[in-house]
Amino acid sequence: MKYIEERNQLIEYGRKMSQDSLSPGTSGNLSIFLREEKLLLISPSGMDYFNIEPEDLVLMDLDGKIIEGKRKPSCEWQLHTNFYKAKADIGALVHTHSLNCACLAAMRMPIEAVHYVIGDANTNKVMCSPYYRFGTEKLARAAVETCGRAKAVLLANHGLVTCGKDLEAAYSLAKNLEYVAEIQVKTMSMGRPYILNKKEMDQVIQGFKGYGQGTEE
Ligand code: 13P
Ligand code: ZN
Repeated sequence: MKYIEERNQLIEYGRKMSQDSLSPGTSGNLSIFLREEKLLLISPSGMDYFNIEPEDLVLMDLDGKIIEGKRKPSCEWQLHTNFYKAKADIGALVHTHSLNCACLAAMRMPIEAVHYVIGDANTNKVMCSPYYRFGTEKLARAAVETCGRAKAVLLANHGLVTCGKDLEAAYSLAKNLEYVAEIQVKTMSMGRPYILNKKEMDQVIQGFKGYGQGTEE
């Protein structure tokens, strides 16, 4: 079996997604894109993340042809393939049903810059894409279009999609956005939160480039 490291990483993050309450039950899914091979490894449909073994991950090409694996792939495989086709710089995608993101998506409201960490999504507003049934190509197309140059998008009456250079980045963004969405939902119940403006957020996004142990200033 190939790609053992990636398979184990997907299992580890699937479990984290459950433990961190980002994906109730068997909701949500995640994948890693092997760009050189133009193949993705994706979680199986409807399986408890704690019962998944390395061989349960499904290896498929960008047309949805299964290359390796006995399980049915996530019903959202088109969401994953459409993002990998549209964005040249991403290596992983995470889809969650986290509560506060789903609340905003039920209001068809974007996640706003009520906290600066939204800048992690490379935008000052995470837009909500129009409603289409789960597991459809229409949902996948609308999500990619609404996402644009950002790294995240809400799905109306459904949840959140995040992407990143690797699984760690895509997952950490999903967690950060749930935190921002929670602040938004809570502060909206107290009145009108202050939303950081474009200039303030441009400075945040610039600041993120040199944040942490990276070398960029
Ligand atoms: P899968 O279990 O098929 O990945 O579906 C979960 C989901 O979140 C559908 O939108
Ligand atoms: Zn879903």
